[in-house]
Amino acid sequence: MAARVVVVLSGGMDSSTCMGIAHAAGQEIFPLTFIYGQKHAVELEAARKVAAHYGVSGRHKIVDLTGLLSGSALTDADKDIPVGRSLAEIGAGIPITYVPARNIVFLSLALAWAEPLGAEAIYLGVNVLDYSGYPDCRPDFIRAFQEVINKGTAAGVEGRGIRIETPLINLSKAEIVRKGVELGVPYHLTYSCYNGTVPSCGTCDACQLRLKGFHEAGLVDPIPYAPAS
Ligand SMILES: [Zn+2]
Repeated sequence: MAARVVVVLSGGMDSSTCMGIAHAAGQEIFPLTFIYGQKHAVELEAARKVAAHYGVSGRHKIVDLTGLLSGSALTDADKDIPVGRSLAEIGAGIPITYVPARNIVFLSLALAWAEPLGAEAIYLGVNVLDYSGYPDCRPDFIRAFQEVINKGTAAGVEGRGIRIETPLINLSKAEIVRKGVELGVPYHLTYSCYNGTVPSCGTCDACQLRLKGFHEAGLVDPIPYAPAS
């Protein structure tokens, strides 16, 4: 019998690859998407399309946290989204696109949905290799939150623990793309640009890392980009 799993789905490349991995494993997917005032709200439409692609729109929960999360260039009007940074700059320090407590909030709410559903796992598309700057994407954080689940839920205390699945955590963007293409992940429906423009800007950190992944995988990203200026 298929296990129930919650997949935190932003509509970007990584979370959509998690959808593909959970689908390939034959799991019963419950996608969970958050609106948090992100400037790139167009990714919500991508999340809807990806959920529809996998035939799980009826179970897709979209939670509006607008006004709760802030303090990031992704959410605050007075903070500019960095563009044109080198990959070395992207990898150094905690970027201004860090959203305070985002994955702590997302995992907490995913857990609140997962436990009564009887779900066995929560899929989260975090990835450290190309994105070491976000503290809430690191293995240490995931291990710590797993402890929170084990100690702070009935399921955990009774030994029916809910696992946090992070299948992409140690993969490069190129490896993620290769795996996703192999699994038939609909990357043409996904969206990653922090600026929220269509076509995507091609110069923000998210666009650059995504393009690098496709390039290194020897593939062409199927979504449109603005011409380089
Ligand atoms: Zn962009």
